[in-house]
Amino acid sequence: MSVISTSSHPIQVEHLYAISKSITQTLEWKRALDDISNLVRKIFIFDNLVVYRTDPNQEVMEAVYARATGRGRSAEADSAWGETAAYEAVQSQKTVLTDPVTPETANRLERPYVLGIPLSVGPQVLGAIIFIRFGGPVFTPESIELAEYISRQITLLIERQRIQEEYQILEDQHKQSRLQQDFVSTISHELRNPLGFIKGYTTTLLRSDTQWDQVTQVEFLKIIDQETDHMQELIENLLDSARLQAGQLRFQFQLVRLESLMNDVITRANLHHPDLVFNLEIPQALNPIVADPVRLAQVIENLISNAIKYAPGSDISITINQEDKKSIITFSDHGPGISEHDLPFIFDRFYRSSGSPTIHGSGLGLYICKHIIQAHHGELSARSKVNEGTSFTIILPGLP
Ligand code: ADP
Repeated sequence: MSVISTSSHPIQVEHLYAISKSITQTLEWKRALDDISNLVRKIFIFDNLVVYRTDPNQEVMEAVYARATGRGRSAEADSAWGETAAYEAVQSQKTVLTDPVTPETANRLERPYVLGIPLSVGPQVLGAIIFIRFGGPVFTPESIELAEYISRQITLLIERQRIQEEYQILEDQHKQSRLQQDFVSTISHELRNPLGFIKGYTTTLLRSDTQWDQVTQVEFLKIIDQETDHMQELIENLLDSARLQAGQLRFQFQLVRLESLMNDVITRANLHHPDLVFNLEIPQALNPIVADPVRLAQVIENLISNAIKYAPGSDISITINQEDKKSIITFSDHGPGISEHDLPFIFDRFYRSSGSPTIHGSGLGLYICKHIIQAHHGELSARSKVNEGTSFTIILPGLP
């Protein structure tokens, strides 16, 4: 294919430069295509421009971008005109020209001139670009050459988009595999550690050559009890995470009174942590909601247990409001907070922030919480400021 000769198209150079610039500088490819079609309109007549992408086997063609300039009708409706030409261009890997079947009809919209150009990188065909002129003018060799030039530019854009998509997939896979590797070492540590304590203290208590006084025995048993709780929590989280992955986490929805559910959870938490201070605020009488009380309590317990772990010594403020039928529950602590770098990822499976390697955990808690709330058609989000604290908000829908 020949390169457009700048000397024969002096006015076009500026536009062509603008097109290339738009391609190299606009990251969002549909916006770049909008920019390009605006620029192309100034030097090239068309009613419709449609970009088709094809799968690697060239079996499925999909219109990924359609634009009508105003002379035609709607871009989406008219894009159907180009399908055959797009398919032919992809199959033949050549520019395809289709003249109107009924050139004598008075209705301009029934006389489409269609130009189809394959979008290819080396031997690989990525799709086709279609220009449609309703009622002419016919595509001259010079205008075809210009359209081919534009198509080569659009190919670059699509190719760059494809590379970006591939890179994104690889980056996600890379992140997941790294998290999984960290997870294996975290889990081995999290299982071995309490098991070591349990085994050690039990063996010590059972020693026949030593008599332990009652205070010491109770102290050792408390440690065994605590460590067993950690293991149990970890195993429950692992099972829930596996159930979530398999789509088998079951829910039993029923009418729930948030106020009494919250009071029950707080009472239970205070049994284990008598020094923990809760500031519960419920400014208005609450309507019941539909929820799974066991799973919802699990989420609240998890948020409380995180506050205990990551914001030790801090009060926990909980407010429940109802607005527009929605229930909004906020949990706030005044702990060290979560860094901006970690905050976007704390709901990811296995994610643990870099600052918490010495605190027990698996990176599964918030991931499970988020999914439980989503199963209630609700939302769970977090806000945090380093050295000020963290707050989690649960939004749950009300009765229809
Ligand atoms: P785990 O506690 O098992 O590490 P989670 O999914 O419950 O996993 O939490 C993910 C991360 O979010 C934790 O590693 C911690 O760094 C951070 N985090 C959660 N809650 C808080 C909180 N209240 N304050 C500070 N950091 C928190």
